Amino acid sequence: MEQRAIKNAYKDYDGTPSCTQAYFDPQGRLTPNFAGRLSGKVAELLEQMEHGLKSADSGDCSGYTGWAGIALLYLHLYNVYRDSSYLQRALEFVNRSLSCLTRRWVTFLCGDAGPLAVAAVVFHKLQRDKEADDCLGRLLRLHQSVVKQDSRVPDEVLYGRMGYLYSLVFVNEQFGQEKIPMQYIQQICDSVIVSGESLSMKSRYQEKSPLMYEWFQEQYVGAAHGLAGIYYFLMQPGFVVSQDKLVGLVKPSVDFLCQLKFPSGNYPPCIGDTRDLLVHWCHGAPGVIYMLIQAYKMFGVDQYLSDAVQCGEVIWQRGLLKKGYGLCHGAGGNAYGFLALYKLTQDAKYLYRACKFAEWCLDYGKHGCRTPDTPFSLFEGMAGTIYFLADLLQPMKSKFPAFEL
Ligand SMILES: [Zn+2]
Repeated sequence: MEQRAIKNAYKDYDGTPSCTQAYFDPQGRLTPNFAGRLSGKVAELLEQMEHGLKSADSGDCSGYTGWAGIALLYLHLYNVYRDSSYLQRALEFVNRSLSCLTRRWVTFLCGDAGPLAVAAVVFHKLQRDKEADDCLGRLLRLHQSVVKQDSRVPDEVLYGRMGYLYSLVFVNEQFGQEKIPMQYIQQICDSVIVSGESLSMKSRYQEKSPLMYEWFQEQYVGAAHGLAGIYYFLMQPGFVVSQDKLVGLVKPSVDFLCQLKFPSGNYPPCIGDTRDLLVHWCHGAPGVIYMLIQAYKMFGVDQYLSDAVQCGEVIWQRGLLKKGYGLCHGAGGNAYGFLALYKLTQDAKYLYRACKFAEWCLDYGKHGCRTPDTPFSLFEGMAGTIYFLADLLQPMKSKFPAFEL
Protein backbone atom coordinates (compact mmCIF):
# COMPACT_ATOMS: atom_id res chain seq x y z
CA MET A 1 0.00 0.00 0.00
CA GLU A 2 1.25 3.44 -0.89
CA GLN A 3 2.36 5.26 2.24
CA ARG A 4 0.68 8.63 2.68
CA ALA A 5 1.56 9.12 6.30
CA ILE A 6 4.80 9.51 8.13
CA LYS A 7 5.23 6.82 10.77
CA ASN A 8 4.01 8.06 14.11
CA ALA A 9 7.03 7.42 16.32
CA TYR A 10 5.53 9.14 19.38
CA LYS A 11 4.81 7.05 22.44
CA ASP A 12 1.04 6.78 22.91
CA TYR A 13 -0.75 7.82 26.08
CA ASP A 14 -0.13 5.27 28.83
CA GLY A 15 -2.42 6.57 31.56
CA THR A 16 0.37 7.79 33.84
CA PRO A 17 0.67 11.43 34.96
CA SER A 18 4.30 11.46 33.85
CA CYS A 19 3.21 11.04 30.26
CA THR A 20 1.06 14.18 30.22
CA GLN A 21 2.71 16.48 32.75
CA ALA A 22 4.82 18.33 30.21
CA TYR A 23 1.62 19.33 28.40
CA PHE A 24 -1.28 19.78 30.80
CA ASP A 25 -2.40 19.36 34.40
CA PRO A 26 -5.03 16.88 35.66
CA GLN A 27 -7.77 19.44 34.90
CA GLY A 28 -6.66 19.64 31.28
CA ARG A 29 -5.11 23.11 31.59
CA LEU A 30 -2.03 23.47 29.42
CA THR A 31 1.23 24.01 31.27
CA PRO A 32 2.69 27.51 30.95
CA ASN A 33 5.68 26.00 29.22
CA PHE A 34 3.71 24.17 26.54
CA ALA A 35 1.28 27.08 26.05
CA GLY A 36 4.31 29.31 25.63
CA ARG A 37 5.73 27.02 22.97
CA LEU A 38 2.42 27.10 21.10
CA SER A 39 2.11 30.88 21.27
CA GLY A 40 5.75 31.33 20.28
CA LYS A 41 5.16 29.21 17.20
CA VAL A 42 1.95 31.09 16.40
CA ALA A 43 3.92 34.37 16.36
CA GLU A 44 6.77 32.92 14.33
CA LEU A 45 4.56 31.29 11.70
CA LEU A 46 2.37 34.40 11.44
CA GLU A 47 5.40 36.36 10.37
CA GLN A 48 6.30 33.77 7.76
CA MET A 49 2.71 33.68 6.57
CA GLU A 50 2.49 37.46 6.18
CA HIS A 51 5.65 37.40 4.13
CA GLY A 52 4.44 34.48 2.01
CA LEU A 53 1.05 36.07 1.34
CA LYS A 54 2.75 38.83 -0.62
CA SER A 55 2.96 36.40 -3.51
CA ALA A 56 -0.49 34.84 -3.02
CA ASP A 57 -3.29 35.05 -5.60
CA SER A 58 -4.72 38.52 -5.02
CA GLY A 59 -8.07 37.59 -6.59
CA ASP A 60 -8.99 34.66 -4.35
CA CYS A 61 -11.70 35.78 -1.93
CA SER A 62 -12.34 32.36 -0.43
CA GLY A 63 -12.10 30.98 3.06
CA TYR A 64 -10.48 27.83 1.75
CA THR A 65 -7.44 29.24 -0.03
CA GLY A 66 -7.99 33.00 -0.13
CA TRP A 67 -8.41 36.22 1.83
CA ALA A 68 -11.49 35.30 3.86
CA GLY A 69 -9.53 32.41 5.34
CA ILE A 70 -6.78 34.75 6.51
CA ALA A 71 -9.39 37.13 7.89
CA LEU A 72 -10.96 34.22 9.76
CA LEU A 73 -7.58 33.29 11.21
CA TYR A 74 -7.06 36.83 12.50
CA LEU A 75 -10.59 36.95 13.90
CA HIS A 76 -9.82 33.71 15.72
CA LEU A 77 -6.54 35.08 17.09
CA TYR A 78 -8.45 38.12 18.29
CA ASN A 79 -10.98 35.86 20.03
CA VAL A 80 -8.17 33.85 21.68
CA TYR A 81 -5.72 36.63 22.63
CA ARG A 82 -8.05 39.68 22.76
CA ASP A 83 -5.38 41.74 21.01
CA SER A 84 -7.15 44.40 18.94
CA SER A 85 -4.35 44.56 16.35
CA TYR A 86 -5.57 41.13 15.19
CA LEU A 87 -9.02 42.55 14.62
CA GLN A 88 -7.50 45.31 12.49
CA ARG A 89 -5.63 42.72 10.43
CA ALA A 90 -8.88 40.77 10.05
CA LEU A 91 -10.51 43.92 8.71
CA GLU A 92 -7.80 44.44 6.11
CA PHE A 93 -8.19 40.91 4.79
CA VAL A 94 -11.98 41.11 4.91
CA ASN A 95 -11.82 44.15 2.65
CA ARG A 96 -9.55 42.37 0.21
CA SER A 97 -11.92 39.44 0.20
CA LEU A 98 -15.02 41.57 -0.39
CA SER A 99 -13.34 43.23 -3.35
CA CYS A 100 -13.08 39.98 -5.30
CA LEU A 101 -16.22 37.92 -4.58
CA THR A 102 -16.91 34.97 -6.89
CA ARG A 103 -20.48 36.04 -7.71
CA ARG A 104 -20.96 32.39 -8.44
CA TRP A 105 -20.54 30.16 -5.38
CA VAL A 106 -22.55 30.54 -2.21
CA THR A 107 -20.68 28.74 0.58
CA PHE A 108 -18.58 29.70 3.56
CA LEU A 109 -15.36 28.06 2.36
CA CYS A 110 -15.48 28.37 -1.41
CA GLY A 111 -18.09 31.01 -2.14
CA ASP A 112 -19.27 34.49 -1.19
CA ALA A 113 -21.14 33.61 2.00
CA GLY A 114 -17.87 33.13 3.90
CA PRO A 115 -16.43 36.55 3.05
CA LEU A 116 -19.79 38.21 3.83
CA ALA A 117 -20.26 36.36 7.12
CA VAL A 118 -16.70 36.98 8.33
CA ALA A 119 -16.98 40.63 7.27
CA ALA A 120 -20.28 41.03 9.15
CA VAL A 121 -18.68 39.69 12.32
CA VAL A 122 -15.52 41.79 12.01
CA PHE A 123 -17.56 44.97 11.39
CA HIS A 124 -19.81 44.10 14.31
CA LYS A 125 -16.86 43.63 16.66
CA LEU A 126 -15.53 47.01 15.51
CA GLN A 127 -18.94 48.53 16.27
CA ARG A 128 -19.43 49.42 12.62
CA ASP A 129 -22.98 48.14 12.69
CA LYS A 130 -24.20 49.70 9.47
CA GLU A 131 -21.53 47.89 7.48
CA ALA A 132 -22.22 44.70 9.43
CA ASP A 133 -25.92 44.90 8.57
CA ASP A 134 -25.12 45.57 4.95
CA CYS A 135 -23.06 42.36 4.80
CA LEU A 136 -25.79 40.40 6.56
CA GLY A 137 -28.34 41.70 4.07
CA ARG A 138 -26.18 40.57 1.18
CA LEU A 139 -25.62 37.21 2.87
CA LEU A 140 -29.34 36.63 3.32
CA ARG A 141 -30.12 37.59 -0.25
CA LEU A 142 -28.38 34.37 -1.29
CA HIS A 143 -30.81 32.31 0.81
CA GLN A 144 -33.58 32.07 -1.76
CA SER A 145 -31.31 30.62 -4.42
CA VAL A 146 -29.92 28.11 -1.92
CA VAL A 147 -33.25 26.66 -0.77
CA LYS A 148 -34.84 26.49 -4.22
CA GLN A 149 -35.03 22.84 -5.30
CA ASP A 150 -34.19 23.43 -8.95
CA SER A 151 -31.32 25.82 -8.20
CA ARG A 152 -28.63 23.22 -9.03
CA VAL A 153 -26.83 24.14 -5.83
CA PRO A 154 -25.32 20.91 -4.48
CA ASP A 155 -25.81 19.90 -0.86
CA GLU A 156 -22.26 19.30 0.44
CA VAL A 157 -20.11 21.54 2.58
CA LEU A 158 -17.54 23.04 0.21
CA TYR A 159 -19.84 24.19 -2.62
CA GLY A 160 -23.35 23.33 -1.49
CA ARG A 161 -26.24 24.14 0.80
CA MET A 162 -24.52 23.02 3.98
CA GLY A 163 -21.64 25.37 3.27
CA TYR A 164 -24.11 28.22 3.05
CA LEU A 165 -25.90 27.05 6.19
CA TYR A 166 -22.62 27.14 8.11
CA SER A 167 -22.27 30.84 7.31
CA LEU A 168 -25.58 31.59 9.03
CA VAL A 169 -24.72 29.54 12.09
CA PHE A 170 -21.30 31.19 12.24
CA VAL A 171 -22.92 34.62 12.31
CA ASN A 172 -25.24 33.64 15.16
CA GLU A 173 -22.45 32.07 17.15
CA GLN A 174 -20.10 35.05 16.73
CA PHE A 175 -22.79 37.64 17.42
CA GLY A 176 -23.85 35.65 20.49
CA GLN A 177 -27.50 35.95 19.55
CA GLU A 178 -29.99 34.64 16.99
CA LYS A 179 -29.17 37.38 14.50
CA ILE A 180 -30.40 35.15 11.71
CA PRO A 181 -33.68 33.44 12.62
CA MET A 182 -33.59 29.67 13.04
CA GLN A 183 -36.20 29.29 10.28
CA TYR A 184 -33.58 30.22 7.68
CA ILE A 185 -31.45 27.33 8.88
CA GLN A 186 -34.39 24.94 9.07
CA GLN A 187 -35.49 25.80 5.54
CA ILE A 188 -32.07 24.88 4.23
CA CYS A 189 -32.20 21.56 6.07
CA ASP A 190 -35.68 20.88 4.66
CA SER A 191 -34.36 21.56 1.21
CA VAL A 192 -31.34 19.28 1.76
CA ILE A 193 -33.66 16.49 2.93
CA VAL A 194 -35.92 16.81 -0.12
CA SER A 195 -32.87 16.71 -2.35
CA GLY A 196 -31.48 13.66 -0.54
CA GLU A 197 -34.74 11.73 -0.73
CA SER A 198 -35.03 12.44 -4.39
CA LEU A 199 -31.53 11.20 -5.21
CA SER A 200 -31.96 8.15 -3.00
CA MET A 201 -35.04 7.23 -4.98
CA LYS A 202 -33.48 7.99 -8.35
CA SER A 203 -30.35 6.01 -7.62
CA ARG A 204 -32.34 3.13 -6.06
CA TYR A 205 -30.85 3.48 -2.63
CA GLN A 206 -34.09 4.00 -0.73
CA GLU A 207 -34.03 0.53 0.88
CA LYS A 208 -30.52 1.11 2.21
CA SER A 209 -30.14 4.84 2.64
CA PRO A 210 -33.29 7.02 2.47
CA LEU A 211 -31.07 10.03 1.85
CA MET A 212 -28.32 10.14 -0.75
CA TYR A 213 -26.14 12.94 -2.07
CA GLU A 214 -23.60 13.40 -4.77
CA TRP A 215 -21.20 15.99 -5.98
CA PHE A 216 -20.15 15.92 -9.63
CA GLN A 217 -21.92 12.56 -10.08
CA GLU A 218 -19.85 10.97 -7.34
CA GLN A 219 -21.27 9.79 -4.01
CA TYR A 220 -18.69 11.13 -1.59
CA VAL A 221 -18.60 9.91 2.00
CA GLY A 222 -16.40 12.42 3.84
CA ALA A 223 -16.90 15.74 5.55
CA ALA A 224 -15.96 18.12 2.72
CA HIS A 225 -17.94 16.86 -0.26
CA GLY A 226 -19.96 14.06 1.16
CA LEU A 227 -22.56 12.41 3.29
CA ALA A 228 -20.78 12.70 6.64
CA GLY A 229 -20.56 16.48 6.40
CA ILE A 230 -24.22 16.78 5.41
CA TYR A 231 -25.50 14.43 8.16
CA TYR A 232 -23.37 16.23 10.74
CA PHE A 233 -25.42 19.38 10.16
CA LEU A 234 -28.76 17.61 9.83
CA MET A 235 -28.23 16.13 13.30
CA GLN A 236 -27.69 19.47 15.05
CA PRO A 237 -30.42 20.14 17.63
CA GLY A 238 -33.29 22.08 16.12
CA PHE A 239 -31.99 22.09 12.53
CA VAL A 240 -34.36 19.36 11.34
CA VAL A 241 -37.62 20.07 13.11
CA SER A 242 -39.46 16.84 12.31
CA GLN A 243 -38.51 14.02 14.67
CA ASP A 244 -39.99 11.60 12.12
CA LYS A 245 -37.53 12.75 9.50
CA LEU A 246 -34.61 12.54 11.90
CA VAL A 247 -35.44 9.02 12.97
CA GLY A 248 -36.91 7.78 9.71
CA LEU A 249 -34.54 9.36 7.19
CA VAL A 250 -31.37 10.72 8.78
CA LYS A 251 -30.61 7.91 11.23
CA PRO A 252 -30.88 5.03 8.73
CA SER A 253 -28.75 7.01 6.29
CA VAL A 254 -26.11 7.51 8.97
CA ASP A 255 -26.29 3.77 9.69
CA PHE A 256 -25.75 3.02 6.02
CA LEU A 257 -22.63 5.20 6.03
CA CYS A 258 -21.41 3.41 9.17
CA GLN A 259 -21.50 0.13 7.26
CA LEU A 260 -18.99 1.49 4.76
CA LYS A 261 -16.30 1.36 7.45
CA PHE A 262 -13.11 -0.43 6.43
CA PRO A 263 -11.69 -3.15 8.75
CA SER A 264 -9.11 -0.54 9.83
CA GLY A 265 -11.83 1.76 11.14
CA ASN A 266 -11.31 4.27 8.32
CA TYR A 267 -13.90 5.24 5.70
CA PRO A 268 -13.76 5.37 1.87
CA PRO A 269 -13.72 8.69 0.00
CA CYS A 270 -16.64 7.53 -2.17
CA ILE A 271 -19.23 4.78 -2.03
CA GLY A 272 -17.76 1.75 -3.79
CA ASP A 273 -14.14 2.80 -3.43
CA THR A 274 -12.32 -0.09 -1.75
CA ARG A 275 -8.93 1.60 -1.28
CA ASP A 276 -8.22 2.42 2.34
CA LEU A 277 -5.75 5.24 1.69
CA LEU A 278 -6.94 8.65 2.79
CA VAL A 279 -6.93 9.84 6.40
CA HIS A 280 -7.94 13.47 5.93
CA TRP A 281 -10.63 15.78 7.22
CA CYS A 282 -11.88 15.96 3.62
CA HIS A 283 -11.84 12.19 3.02
CA GLY A 284 -11.81 9.54 5.72
CA ALA A 285 -12.02 9.07 9.46
CA PRO A 286 -10.89 12.58 10.52
CA GLY A 287 -14.03 14.05 8.94
CA VAL A 288 -16.47 11.20 9.58
CA ILE A 289 -15.70 11.35 13.31
CA TYR A 290 -17.80 14.54 13.73
CA MET A 291 -20.84 12.83 12.27
CA LEU A 292 -20.34 9.84 14.55
CA ILE A 293 -20.00 11.98 17.67
CA GLN A 294 -23.08 13.97 16.71
CA ALA A 295 -25.03 10.77 16.03
CA TYR A 296 -23.99 9.51 19.46
CA LYS A 297 -25.17 12.73 21.08
CA MET A 298 -28.44 12.72 19.16
CA PHE A 299 -29.44 9.05 19.29
CA GLY A 300 -27.40 7.75 22.25
CA VAL A 301 -26.32 4.55 20.48
CA ASP A 302 -23.00 3.26 21.84
CA GLN A 303 -21.88 1.91 18.48
CA TYR A 304 -21.48 5.47 17.17
CA LEU A 305 -19.16 6.28 20.03
CA SER A 306 -17.08 3.16 19.52
CA ASP A 307 -16.80 3.91 15.79
CA ALA A 308 -15.67 7.45 16.68
CA VAL A 309 -13.08 6.06 19.09
CA GLN A 310 -11.87 3.82 16.26
CA CYS A 311 -11.51 6.91 14.06
CA GLY A 312 -9.27 8.28 16.80
CA GLU A 313 -7.03 5.19 16.53
CA VAL A 314 -6.81 5.54 12.74
CA ILE A 315 -5.87 9.21 13.08
CA TRP A 316 -3.23 8.44 15.69
CA GLN A 317 -1.67 5.72 13.54
CA ARG A 318 -1.95 7.31 10.11
CA GLY A 319 -2.69 10.99 10.67
CA LEU A 320 0.76 12.58 10.40
CA LEU A 321 0.53 13.20 6.70
CA LYS A 322 3.13 13.66 4.01
CA LYS A 323 0.77 16.34 2.72
CA GLY A 324 1.85 18.40 5.70
CA TYR A 325 0.38 20.42 8.52
CA GLY A 326 -2.82 21.92 7.15
CA LEU A 327 -6.48 21.58 8.02
CA CYS A 328 -8.14 19.97 5.03
CA HIS A 329 -5.61 17.20 4.47
CA GLY A 330 -2.90 17.65 7.05
CA ALA A 331 -1.89 16.86 10.59
CA GLY A 332 -3.37 20.06 12.04
CA GLY A 333 -6.83 19.24 10.74
CA ASN A 334 -6.48 15.62 11.81
CA ALA A 335 -5.63 16.65 15.37
CA TYR A 336 -9.06 18.26 15.68
CA GLY A 337 -10.48 14.73 15.67
CA PHE A 338 -8.71 14.12 18.99
CA LEU A 339 -10.04 17.39 20.35
CA ALA A 340 -13.56 16.39 19.37
CA LEU A 341 -13.15 13.13 21.30
CA TYR A 342 -11.62 15.00 24.21
CA LYS A 343 -14.50 17.46 24.40
CA LEU A 344 -16.94 14.55 24.43
CA THR A 345 -15.17 12.24 26.90
CA GLN A 346 -12.68 14.45 28.77
CA ASP A 347 -10.34 11.48 28.45
CA ALA A 348 -6.76 12.79 28.85
CA LYS A 349 -5.63 10.35 26.18
CA TYR A 350 -7.15 12.50 23.44
CA LEU A 351 -5.79 15.77 24.71
CA TYR A 352 -2.38 14.10 24.93
CA ARG A 353 -2.64 12.94 21.33
CA ALA A 354 -3.69 16.40 20.15
CA CYS A 355 -0.67 17.86 21.97
CA LYS A 356 1.60 15.32 20.28
CA PHE A 357 0.26 16.27 16.84
CA ALA A 358 0.78 19.92 17.78
CA GLU A 359 4.32 19.10 18.77
CA TRP A 360 4.82 17.61 15.33
CA CYS A 361 3.47 20.86 13.85
CA LEU A 362 5.91 22.84 15.99
CA ASP A 363 8.60 21.35 13.75
CA TYR A 364 6.87 22.92 10.77
CA GLY A 365 8.68 22.22 7.52
CA LYS A 366 11.16 19.75 9.01
CA HIS A 367 9.56 16.46 7.98
CA GLY A 368 10.10 16.61 4.23
CA CYS A 369 6.39 17.12 3.55
CA ARG A 370 5.07 18.23 0.19
CA THR A 371 4.46 21.99 -0.19
CA PRO A 372 0.77 22.65 -0.83
CA ASP A 373 -0.45 24.64 -3.85
CA THR A 374 -1.45 27.53 -1.62
CA PRO A 375 1.21 27.21 1.10
CA PHE A 376 -0.03 30.02 3.36
CA SER A 377 -3.78 29.52 3.08
CA LEU A 378 -6.24 28.55 5.80
CA PHE A 379 -7.30 25.17 4.50
CA GLU A 380 -4.18 23.94 2.73
CA GLY A 381 -1.39 25.82 4.35
CA MET A 382 0.25 27.62 7.21
CA ALA A 383 -2.72 29.75 8.29
CA GLY A 384 -4.58 26.56 9.17
CA THR A 385 -1.73 25.27 11.32
CA ILE A 386 -1.56 28.59 13.15
CA TYR A 387 -5.31 28.42 13.70
CA PHE A 388 -4.97 24.95 15.23
CA LEU A 389 -2.01 25.81 17.48
CA ALA A 390 -3.89 28.82 18.87
CA ASP A 391 -7.08 26.76 19.29
CA LEU A 392 -5.24 24.16 21.35
CA LEU A 393 -4.62 26.80 24.03
CA GLN A 394 -8.26 26.35 25.07
CA PRO A 395 -8.96 22.72 24.22
CA MET A 396 -12.56 22.62 25.47
CA LYS A 397 -13.45 25.58 23.25
CA SER A 398 -11.65 24.34 20.16
CA LYS A 399 -13.60 23.80 16.94
CA PHE A 400 -12.55 22.72 13.49
CA PRO A 401 -12.93 26.03 11.65
CA ALA A 402 -15.63 26.64 9.06
CA PHE A 403 -17.28 23.35 9.95
CA GLU A 404 -17.62 22.29 13.57
CA LEU A 405 -20.43 23.72 15.68
ZN1 LIG B 1 -8.50 17.99 1.67
